[in-house]
Amino acid sequence: MPTIPAKVSVFGFPLHLVDNAPEWLLMQQRDGRGQHVITLNSEMVMLAERTPEFADVLHRADLVIPDGSGVILYLKLHGLSVPRLPGIEFAEALLRLANEAPQPKRVFFYGAAPGVAEKVAERWHRELPNLKIVGVQSGYHDAATEVALIEKLKETQPHIIFVALGVPRQEYWIDRHRHICPEAIWVGVGGSFDIWAGVKKRAPKLFQKLHLEWLYRLYQEPWRWRRMLALPQFAWKAILSRLHGRQRFSS
Ligand code: UDP
Repeated sequence: MPTIPAKVSVFGFPLHLVDNAPEWLLMQQRDGRGQHVITLNSEMVMLAERTPEFADVLHRADLVIPDGSGVILYLKLHGLSVPRLPGIEFAEALLRLANEAPQPKRVFFYGAAPGVAEKVAERWHRELPNLKIVGVQSGYHDAATEVALIEKLKETQPHIIFVALGVPRQEYWIDRHRHICPEAIWVGVGGSFDIWAGVKKRAPKLFQKLHLEWLYRLYQEPWRWRRMLALPQFAWKAILSRLHGRQRFSS
């Protein structure tokens, strides 16, 4: 039985520590506005520091899990050693557990380039046949398609909705729409559809182990360099906050 997540703060933003996040989520009673899961990394923390709207979305989320290596570094510097839970691994674990549920769980895949969400749905349908995939929608569309998408979500009431529009668009989108499926778990999954569909490759295990997944990403997508400056900025801030002795967790 998973325990209630402990909440800690990363520069004032919430982060939850839970042993088995998928199990905990599937067991929760929803509170009528859907459950928003955010997979936190340093880029998001830096964004939240300069953007009050994004900070509010983070504070409103029901579960914020430690995705990025920077976040793990921050916790470690403040005396708390926790494992990383990459968003893509969390999302897969959630699907696998949902597949074992006695009543079929309805799943929706929204986001990524045209054709990608379809491939993702086919893959998971093959691997996890007990899931009921109730819809897919690419992340590039006009306003009329968005209206149709919202109708489809209202009508199908999925239990799990993955949104792959990139940060922060997916978090804003979920925050605005979560109430339309009050029983759902909503997760922003960034580039996970591209990886599940085989369009992009995840960093090799060694990079993951050495907390260098970001470096592999930069090599694959060099145009991200400006966005990724948030990483060293965050790491430096984390070191300074440790040196200044602010906040120390007891583990
Ligand atoms: N994307 C989308 N609609 C958009 C912009 C992006 O569907 O208007 C998709 C894009 O095709 C990709 C994902 O969102 O599949 C973003 O992936 P990325 O790796 O950039 O995610 P992040 O690093 O922002 O989490």
